Order: sequence, then structure tokens, then C-alpha cells
Amino acid sequence: MNIITNYDQIIIKPNHLIVLDIDETTLKYPMINDKWWKYNNETFGNDYAYNLWLDIVNSNYPKILDSQKFFDFIDKAEQFNCKIVFLTARYIELKQITLDHLRACNIKVDDNDVYFNSEKGKEILKIIKNYNYNNYIFVDDVKKNIDNVLNSVDNIDVYLMEHDNLYI
Ligand SMILES: [Mg+2]
Repeated sequence: MNIITNYDQIIIKPNHLIVLDIDETTLKYPMINDKWWKYNNETFGNDYAYNLWLDIVNSNYPKILDSQKFFDFIDKAEQFNCKIVFLTARYIELKQITLDHLRACNIKVDDNDVYFNSEKGKEILKIIKNYNYNNYIFVDDVKKNIDNVLNSVDNIDVYLMEHDNLYI
């Protein structure tokens, strides 16, 4: 596992399927980061914290954590004949707002480019059947998800994103 702080530290290799987490890996909403989650989960409980999060998502647009480096990364991935998809632990009910918010950040996604499952290893095993790639890259800001994917998927390079803009 590689710990990184920005997209330019991801080593892009030719013909890889690249799977990116969304929240706190690619996009950031006002206030929300791992410290926000920890505080609100511990203070109000997980259900209430989730509803607080949902209110913020429903009433704000996100920003890309570093749009310059993100789009450089996307360009390079395309040059290397890689395909990028997103895998989020969000509930599938949030599909439309998730697509809308990615597109509001000028990220080009087809409706089928975003997958919803909190069991990320299991989902990646399903995702890779949809594409003709034998090697994969996975980026997520949660260690548990990285471990889950490493335990499920072979031929995958994993990166734990601890983005340097997360607390700005
Ligand atoms: Mg995340």
C-alpha cells in the first residue's frame, strides 16, 4: 500500500482500470473530512451524523481536492489507455446527485461509470468483469477499504489518499 497526498503520486501504468473513491479522495464538501466524521459520530451517533452529512451534500456543491492535478492525472490516464471509474460507499439512492456533483466539477462520467457499494473488494470483483483489463489501480482515503480490496483482488496497486487539501 502506498500513502499519497495528491493525484500526481499515483503511478499510472498502461492499460489499467483505475478505480477511484469519491468522498475525500476526489471530491470534498464544505466542512467534511475524517475529523468531522469522527467528531459527529462520537457526539451524535452514526445515524445522526449520516443525516448531517446528507444535509451538507444536498445543499452544497463539492470541489475537487486539487483540480489541476486531478485533471492532469485524468489526461495522463487517458494517454495510457486506462479507464477510470468511481466506486463509492454512498447508498445507490444517491446516484443522481452523485453524478450531478461529479459533472458540476467538470468530471466526465457516464451513468455507468459510478458504482455504489461499501464492500469495495466484492464490488471491484464485479466491476472488472465489465471491462477488458487485467491490471487495476485503486485509490481510497479509508484504510479499511484498502485492506478489503487487497484481500479480494489480485493484480491491483492500491493507494491510501491522505490529501493535503482535506483540512483547508
Ligand atoms: Mg472516501
